[in-house]
Amino acid sequence: MPEHDPSLYVLDLHTHPTLKTYMFKRRFWRRHHPPGFLFPFTLRTDLDALLEGNVKGLLCATYVTERGWLDDCWPIRLQRPWNDTLDRIFTEVPDDMAREYLNHLDWVIRDTVARRGPHIEVAKSFSEMQRIWSEGKIAILNSMEGAHHLNGNLDNLQDFFERGVCKMIVPHMYPNEACWNVDAIPETILLRKLGCFKQKFQLETGLTPWGRELIERMLDIGMIVDMTHGTPQFRKEVLDLAAEHPRKRPVVMSHVGVHALAPYPMNPTPEDIRRITDTGGVVGIIAMSYWLSRPEIRDCREVLLKTVAHLIEHGGDDVVAFGSDFDGFTGVPRDWKSPREYNNVRAWLLEKYSVEQVRKFLNGNAERVLREGWGKQ
Ligand SMILES: [Zn+2]
Repeated sequence: MPEHDPSLYVLDLHTHPTLKTYMFKRRFWRRHHPPGFLFPFTLRTDLDALLEGNVKGLLCATYVTERGWLDDCWPIRLQRPWNDTLDRIFTEVPDDMAREYLNHLDWVIRDTVARRGPHIEVAKSFSEMQRIWSEGKIAILNSMEGAHHLNGNLDNLQDFFERGVCKMIVPHMYPNEACWNVDAIPETILLRKLGCFKQKFQLETGLTPWGRELIERMLDIGMIVDMTHGTPQFRKEVLDLAAEHPRKRPVVMSHVGVHALAPYPMNPTPEDIRRITDTGGVVGIIAMSYWLSRPEIRDCREVLLKTVAHLIEHGGDDVVAFGSDFDGFTGVPRDWKSPREYNNVRAWLLEKYSVEQVRKFLNGNAERVLREGWGKQ
């Protein structure tokens, strides 16, 4: 059966197991049974789900929640005095807290190997990832979500790069030193009705002067620039910088739908898709019903195939990739609720596309981005 072809493994460009293993003490080595809807307390990206879904590579994003959450979300504000972990996250300097998260993920993987055997290892470079794969293991890669982790200091960028961070999403939930952001909270969630998330957005804004310097430095050293969560103007300015840069580097949006099917500023337009393709980059499809279609639908098969077809129409076979955002407090589709259901995604794609195309979508395109975008090689 072609869906069992081991070469059709998955390289997922965006996940968040660190959040769940740190905040809620979930155990990566233990099997979880996540439901097919928003349920923050489960862990979707556990070892068993990766093994069963034939996921061989996983970019795990460090995300230290911005202080904006305290003003914008009163349940978090109320809990903070009673919850030591939460208090620590909002008290520590963001770059120090980010280092703690990176150390924590290293420990999670060591602990998993100690309990379950040598199935998995953290890769700090592209060649390490290849070596880990050649040994038949899953490679965990570090990424970062939001330039606020740098705390306004470009020396931190070099430090995180040396610690193996291969990609950074520059904007995130609240404005940072580099740029503003788009709304990333669904209009439909209950907390809005309870008075949370009143942030005003400035969609016409792009990069600050410091943000331009940051993007240039990322393109120089080879930390992949991820434009997810950016404003349309931010995307335009980043793509201009990438086009002018002496070294051709892939620029990506790692976890989105497409604007044609879910018309939010979060999602790329046909023009964005074309320009991302020109850099050699990819658009990673998110496992979140809200960003995949408006109105939102709970089973994603049909809309996922439409999203792939739209990406191919505007960027060709080389632009399609996957960035599930599993464990990022997302409302998952019922039929793609954890890495295990990459078995569904693989089967749907094989109904419509050749094995060679599906291989590109699931791993080849993302691997190319890492080869050309990460480090000096
Ligand atoms: Zn995100």
